[in-house]
Amino acid sequence: MPGTRRLLGRLRALMAREGADGAARLHELTQLVAAEMVAEVCSIYAMRSGDLLELAATFGLNPDSVGRTRLRVGEGIVGLVAATGTLQNLPDAQNHPAFAYRPETGEDPYASLLAVPVRRGGRTLGVVAVQNRQPRRYAEDECEVLETVAMLLAEMLATAGATDGAEQGVAATLPRQFAADALAPGIAIGIVVMAGIGAAPGRLLAEDPDAEQRRLAQAASTMRQSLEALIEQQGGPTWHAPENEASRAILEATRLVAADGGFLRRVRDAVAGGLTAEAAVHRVTNEVRGRMKRIADPYLRERLSDLEDLADRLLAALGGNEAESVPRGAILLARRLGPAQLLDWHARGIGGVIIEEGSTAGHAAILARALGLPALGGARGVLDAAEPNDLVVLDADDGQLILRPDGEVRAAYARALQGRAEVEASYASLRNHPARTADGTRLQLMLNVGLAMEMEQLETTGAAGIGLFRTEIAMLARGSVADVADQATMYARVLDAAEGRPVRFRTLDLGGDKLLPDAPPPTEENPAMGWRSLRVGLDRPALLRRQLRALLLAAQGRPLSVMFPMVATVAEFRAARAILEAEAARVRPAPERLHIGAMVEVPSLLFQLPALMEHTDFVSIGTNDLMQFLFAADRATPALAARYDLLSAPALDALGLIVAAGAAAGVEVSVCGEHASRPLEAMVLAALGITTLSMPAASLLRIKAMMARVDLVELRGLLEALRRHDRGAASLRDLLTTWAREHGHIG
Ligand code: PEP
Ligand code: MG
Repeated sequence: MPGTRRLLGRLRALMAREGADGAARLHELTQLVAAEMVAEVCSIYAMRSGDLLELAATFGLNPDSVGRTRLRVGEGIVGLVAATGTLQNLPDAQNHPAFAYRPETGEDPYASLLAVPVRRGGRTLGVVAVQNRQPRRYAEDECEVLETVAMLLAEMLATAGATDGAEQGVAATLPRQFAADALAPGIAIGIVVMAGIGAAPGRLLAEDPDAEQRRLAQAASTMRQSLEALIEQQGGPTWHAPENEASRAILEATRLVAADGGFLRRVRDAVAGGLTAEAAVHRVTNEVRGRMKRIADPYLRERLSDLEDLADRLLAALGGNEAESVPRGAILLARRLGPAQLLDWHARGIGGVIIEEGSTAGHAAILARALGLPALGGARGVLDAAEPNDLVVLDADDGQLILRPDGEVRAAYARALQGRAEVEASYASLRNHPARTADGTRLQLMLNVGLAMEMEQLETTGAAGIGLFRTEIAMLARGSVADVADQATMYARVLDAAEGRPVRFRTLDLGGDKLLPDAPPPTEENPAMGWRSLRVGLDRPALLRRQLRALLLAAQGRPLSVMFPMVATVAEFRAARAILEAEAARVRPAPERLHIGAMVEVPSLLFQLPALMEHTDFVSIGTNDLMQFLFAADRATPALAARYDLLSAPALDALGLIVAAGAAAGVEVSVCGEHASRPLEAMVLAALGITTLSMPAASLLRIKAMMARVDLVELRGLLEALRRHDRGAASLRDLLTTWAREHGHIG
């Protein structure tokens, strides 16, 4: 639409004009828009404190009503538009049930009305409307013009001083609290930065629309190619599943949306109108989102998420349009986030992440935990309520986030963080102390990591080694399984960084909750119990063999320790071990020592412990999965998180069986599940005889400090007495907590 381009050109000049006062600028804007749209009236309503919309500028209505006419959000057509965030196109506005008559404006003669919300970063800043005497429905391209104007207006209203105080006292600047799921522990305070379609586009108006069209065409083609490549991979033999039709269908759907041109045509039209490609993607997506939001149909809702996906991909292909520099410690807010994107943002120095649609089992959550980055998910509505540069408290320890916290909350959190930092500093002095309990039992405290860059934590914690190296994390982060050479380089870096300390590499534990981006969404009813992990490795031995070869090559003759996850039978373990030994026989130089271990995390192994101990060099208990399968309680379901306790008879009995079998066979038993990082659990594990504990770095020195005060002989006696006393107790936690508190072991 050449008319739009002309209008945008004039609006750009208006926005760029120095020194113009906000009110005059807005007034001029209404004149320009009315002239271009052949409207008799154009008015701007700006949001004021107390959820009030105030007439901030008008061409055509009584100028005296500017600053006087006010509507509550939800009142009148303008209030309705602000409340719903969607456009109203009415040929006969005065007979609409929501119409609110304001005699001072002199709007009686105008029958038709087109009103569009002015939104930025999900927040409504006002409403812009045009009116005409003739009853008529505005054409689609007219709606698009006004939506584009609304987008520019959002920038003007959000720029300090553009209107007299429109930003100050806006109701949305009040603090808001959201309950959320903790994806990775920790607390962080910082300003909001947004990713993808949730972020406001940087530049709105293009200098050269033709060059912009070329950029868009190039990005659309890049996006199509990457979609084709993904579809291609789905069709080919991936190790994930022989059956990947579902994922193919989803990608095909996205490709159809991309290819059908409806979406892209509208983006192109918006660029032809003078917007940058990024601004055009935002405008068209927001417009469609506005319409679709009113639709309850879950199928169409799903299409909306396809569309947002497409918009995100297109923005990524455009090279992103997000702030280039990220303030250190900023909190990233995203609707969805892949592990590779999270790594990228981590490198840019963010201090925490909130993923609106993130769940504890998601890849980004796993990665956030590995990176020690506090993270929250499942926080519905945050993206709509937040704005870039808002201050936010991310409290993953308490499962909440506070947007725009007031001074007192801020100060309380700052004090808490300071307190933590002091405690951490006091722990740091323990780094070189031997890990020992009060009764003199030696402990091996090791780290759980998943990325080579985490190896520096060995230094900062003084850990004895890596008790669990989750090799799949790096693959999730890069989005695919690396080839042998790349894997070997990565593992060699890990071994170099370990400087002779032991590293237990766990073979790929993919599937279930840890899917690569090109993996089909699980079609199994119970993916956690599905075709995953070692099961895939044994069914697709080429993949397992490649990883084992990479590990052997990385070792270059050094001692190598490998363990297999999700072992359900001794036969499976033997098969996996045989593959590793066969590979080891081929690789030169052979490792000086090859330690092959089994993770005990599937309860069936509890009934074959003596046989297992005969074949394994060590055992590492994955309490996360063991608890999940022992109690038939999904580890990712928050409602079950506190229901079944490791400190209960069935779990303690299971652990006792493993310890006894290990002791009888002279095989070391360790724990690498999250329980090892919790004070009460860690001391009980040690009392049961499990003295090798592997945990995330953030907990290690705290556990070391606590263990130094615990007398295991006394605790063992207490445990036995408690268990004799009530064999059917749901948990020993409360009684053990009382004891630990009385002794000052825990706070
Ligand atoms: C476990 O299951 O306890 C474990 C350590 O493995 P992951 O958490 O990676 O499944
Ligand atoms: Mg596990």
